[in-house]
Amino acid sequence: MASTGPRMKLAVLTSGGDSAGMNAVVRAVVRAGINQGCETWVVREGYEGLVRGNIEGFQTGPSRQPHTEVKVKNPNLLDNLGFGDGELLKDGTGDLPSGRTLKGRYIVRVGWDDVRGWMGEGGTLIGTARSKTFRTEEGRLAAAFNMVKEGIDALVVCGGDGSLTGADVFRSEWPKLIATLKDQGKISAEQAEEHGHLRIVGLVGSIDNDMSLTDLTIGAPTALHRICESIDNINSTASSHSRAFVVEVMGRHCGWLALMAAVSSGADYLLIPESPPEEDSWEDAMCGKIHRHRDVGKRKTIVLVAEGACDKNLKPIRSDYVKEVLEQRLGLDTRVTTLGHVQRGGKPCALDRILPTLQGVEAVNALLESTPETPSYMIGMCGNKVKRVPLMEAVATTQAVAQALKEKDFKRAMSLRDPEFVECLEAFFATSGLDRTPYLSPPQRMRVAIMHTGAPSGGMNAATRAIVRYCFRMGHTAIAIQNGFLGLLDDSVYDFAWLSVDNWMAKGGSELGTNRTLPDIDLGAIAAKFQQHSFDALIMIGGFEAFTSLTILEEGRKHYPAFRIPLVHLPATISNNVPVTQHSLGCDTSLNALLEACDAIKQSAQASRNRVFVVETQGGKCGYLATMGALAAGAVIVYTPERGIKLDSLRDDVKYLKRRYAMDVKGRNEGRIVIRNEMSSHVYTTEMITKMFKEEGGTQFDSRSASLGHTLQGGIPSPIDRARAVRLALKCMAFVEEHHQLQPTSQSPVKQSVPESAAVITVQGSTVKWVPAYEMIHHADVKNRKGKHGWWEENVELVEMMVARPQIV
Ligand code: ATP
Repeated sequence: MASTGPRMKLAVLTSGGDSAGMNAVVRAVVRAGINQGCETWVVREGYEGLVRGNIEGFQTGPSRQPHTEVKVKNPNLLDNLGFGDGELLKDGTGDLPSGRTLKGRYIVRVGWDDVRGWMGEGGTLIGTARSKTFRTEEGRLAAAFNMVKEGIDALVVCGGDGSLTGADVFRSEWPKLIATLKDQGKISAEQAEEHGHLRIVGLVGSIDNDMSLTDLTIGAPTALHRICESIDNINSTASSHSRAFVVEVMGRHCGWLALMAAVSSGADYLLIPESPPEEDSWEDAMCGKIHRHRDVGKRKTIVLVAEGACDKNLKPIRSDYVKEVLEQRLGLDTRVTTLGHVQRGGKPCALDRILPTLQGVEAVNALLESTPETPSYMIGMCGNKVKRVPLMEAVATTQAVAQALKEKDFKRAMSLRDPEFVECLEAFFATSGLDRTPYLSPPQRMRVAIMHTGAPSGGMNAATRAIVRYCFRMGHTAIAIQNGFLGLLDDSVYDFAWLSVDNWMAKGGSELGTNRTLPDIDLGAIAAKFQQHSFDALIMIGGFEAFTSLTILEEGRKHYPAFRIPLVHLPATISNNVPVTQHSLGCDTSLNALLEACDAIKQSAQASRNRVFVVETQGGKCGYLATMGALAAGAVIVYTPERGIKLDSLRDDVKYLKRRYAMDVKGRNEGRIVIRNEMSSHVYTTEMITKMFKEEGGTQFDSRSASLGHTLQGGIPSPIDRARAVRLALKCMAFVEEHHQLQPTSQSPVKQSVPESAAVITVQGSTVKWVPAYEMIHHADVKNRKGKHGWWEENVELVEMMVARPQIV
């Protein structure tokens, strides 16, 4: 099918150290590019590939064509389907079926299907390198020549700050490079005219999360997963032998990985470059802290050391030295585990599939909108939103941190990190210590009750642990209510001990026990229990039931003074259906559980024949899990309650699947995933849709179903959920303390409370906001048990766009 010529020829490369999520970037850039009418290329081996280019005389062009004549709306898609050699890059042989070789070819045209299945692969399939030659002007001249030769003048670079600096240098020099090439007669005047402007966009691929002006770098969440998995494993052996472990993690100039791992794994001590121990003898401080932990019966010790950890005089702190100190001063049997490259490897986690996809799409938009006047952009994340920031501003701020560290200006280094970094560090101190003297005087101390409500979800226990630890630090009494409001009525109430929550960070489900009973089961009796146990505050961790309970208790304040205390709801639910907040505890864990299942299902689906798997997820009337899961798993269709399922759309879905399978390379089995939220339709059930696909698929494809059910609730909580739990739990305590001060004194004992003291903690973008219960009601769709607006809903279109459904139907 003839096309009218590409809108833009764009190439994508990965550079510097590899990181999980780079393949998702390439996939998104290629597919978004094709969708926008561009011709798409990849550059192998980073900038080195640009410098080397393609050996003269080597033919570039279509290597494969679709096997079946299929009508699609977007001829560009058909032109680009299975165009390049992507599949061959994947298996690393470098040999094409036609006998041609990739050796000597670094700039390769790729099509839609070349990047199929790339999202679940770790590292970078197009290769990465550190290129000395590109650092020279001569090297960049060769790179410019190779690009112009292929007609490419738009580039997406995914790498660390070095790679992005290189990108900016390349773009600023481009006019000069083009003029030189023209003067040298290497390119024609027309080529020089046509390619006078280089469009360039940077995406940050780095496991260190060391780039300023973005919340998360691509690959950092997966590295954190690898670290936490390792520490969880170490914990059991450490505890068995009563050992200490010094765990060294990557991060030469940035302690983000070590910090987040320490918070998420419940480590005892932390050494990072940005925050060297203040004490002259940090060894004394470390041993004192660990000794106190051991004194109360703790059997394991974990010290996390970032690769670049140093003391305040910039003297490096080595893991072996930490081990020596622990052995000599405390007599602890101590081992060192250096995690090394394990941290880079493995399957990308959900965030490292979703965020690179969003950023890759935005990168193509930024390229298309680029003019000689606009700066080079870096695509970053701010909350759930992708954002463009001037590339060099981000690089300069990042380099300023390194400079501040060099100058021992640790305060400045910290101030240049994002506020979440500082909060997490404070959270680590607040939850890891066991001080002899509590911070607050007796009159300021509270009795803080903690309860889990509704279905269990990852992070509930981590949040509880953080509250308990903070309470010990301040002098409050942390009170456990087991089994929700029913347990309270049965007096299943006890005071927490510091050690009793020690290993709760990695525990899934609910250690306190939870159920869906609301306080209106007997509000008067509940109030009596509040009084009997002298609660000064209640923190409910749970989903929509916790939210409903909060509104009931707040309403009950009119009649029952016992409820006139700070009442807090910390959202924790895999459905993510609490109004206003964008993230509930547990939804990241559950997304990862969904992904793991989908990856395994997909593998099984294509092992024997073409097969479509209809995967049913939980989520109630809220399509968050299905939508974001579909985006992360690369599902071809997603059914949500918000959109519902109509007969016409089912007909289109069948049409789409038939056409899609008709386009596949013959003889190769393809597994495809369809995700259906459990409540998308009462009539078109998972079973019915599966049967329909099977019937309609005929000899082309088969269909099976899988219901993931409660598997999505359980499992070990993800590090992101754990860290978020700690951060939000401590904010809950700050809120409770603030509102406790407004409580009556012994002189006026009648309890009064402001309506704002019954509130939900919500995550909105990059900020955390308190929303009073009375205001939350306006945002709730009570009948369907969810918020009125779901920020994720627009992603359904992105899911479809990434599989070309709009063009193929
Ligand atoms: P990581 O964070 O994993 O180290 P990085 O992108 O910072 O990744 P670098 O080795 O610093 O890794 O840079 C990668 C490549 O980018 C270099 O090998 C070089 O080719 C190019 N590059 C870096 N800085 C420049 C520069 N100032 N000018 C031109 N090219 C550069």
